Amino acid sequence: MSQTSNTVFPVSFEFFPTKTPEGAQKLRGVRAQLYERKPEFCSVTYGAGGSTQEGTFNAVKEILSEGVDAASHFSCIGATRESVRTQLAQLKEMGVRRLVALRGDLPSGYGIGGEFHYASDLVAFIREEMGDYFHIEVAAYPEIHPQARSAEADLKAFATKVKAGANSAITQYFFNADAYFRFVDDTRRLGVDVPVVPGIMPIMGASQLMRFSDACGAEIPRWIRLRLQGFGDDVESIRAFGLDVITALCEQLRKGGVPSLHFYTMNQSAATLEICKRLGI
Ligand SMILES: Cc1cc2nc3c(=O)[nH]c(=O)nc-3n(C[C@H](O)[C@H](O)[C@H](O)COP(=O)(O)OP(=O)(O)OC[C@H]3O[C@@H](n4cnc5c(N)ncnc54)[C@H](O)[C@@H]3O)c2cc1C
Repeated sequence: MSQTSNTVFPVSFEFFPTKTPEGAQKLRGVRAQLYERKPEFCSVTYGAGGSTQEGTFNAVKEILSEGVDAASHFSCIGATRESVRTQLAQLKEMGVRRLVALRGDLPSGYGIGGEFHYASDLVAFIREEMGDYFHIEVAAYPEIHPQARSAEADLKAFATKVKAGANSAITQYFFNADAYFRFVDDTRRLGVDVPVVPGIMPIMGASQLMRFSDACGAEIPRWIRLRLQGFGDDVESIRAFGLDVITALCEQLRKGGVPSLHFYTMNQSAATLEICKRLGI
């Protein structure tokens, strides 16, 4: 474990919308603690098919009213041009200037439907409708999106998405920095030069992390998986190990020149705050 000297290094934090007033109240406290780290922006996820639209937009409004820049995630699967047009107008009205534009995933059995097939269609549509009004982030997958036809096809799809008008990208989380650096080098070769910000997942528990990682295609290296399994129900040891592993990963990424770090907070402050503290952020 190491302690870097205090520096201004850009970070952003991601939250998901809560379902109850109690949850929303708790999240206000979490955000207040994380704001001490002066995030560049905070983002709020969006349930595919618009299932969390109200909760997402409410959380985004609150963040803006707390004086922090907010990004609304926005997924297009199952949406029509008209429904997207209406929501973009709503977001503009709310004062939102930043979007994370995604395809999203519908629960199995829903089919694809809608008028958008890929995030690149959404990015192009937003630019067509709203010009340069929004700063658009897109998703990137250093370890390859699980549904991609091939690594090469995924890389090309990413380049197409950026060229449709994205300003920057945030990656799926990963534990292997080489995958990230390789991905960035490959995108540069395809003429993509937008910032690619690593998405950082603090390790807070073993079983949830393994479930998530299987679903989203993020690889947990064997040594991390086995160490986590070895801790069994010993939550304290899992947390201590997780903090060391993720701090070391962030240090490696910073040394390699990443533009900033985006934390998947999971609506909790402790692990993200501790990692920032150890990094001197
Ligand atoms: C930073 C980040 C934030 C996220 N936030 C959310 C959220 O708020 N809500 C949510 O529901 N999900 C979220 N996700 C998950 C995301 O919605 C899923 O990973 C989804 O499966 C893909 O979305 P995408 O925008 O990356 O899709 P796309 O970029 O459209 O890619 C999806 C798949 O299609 C392929 N593809 C793309 N274009 C083409 C083409 N022209 N021809 C053939 N294949 C193509 C790609 O290779 C990839 O396999 C997030 C992911 C990340 C990394």
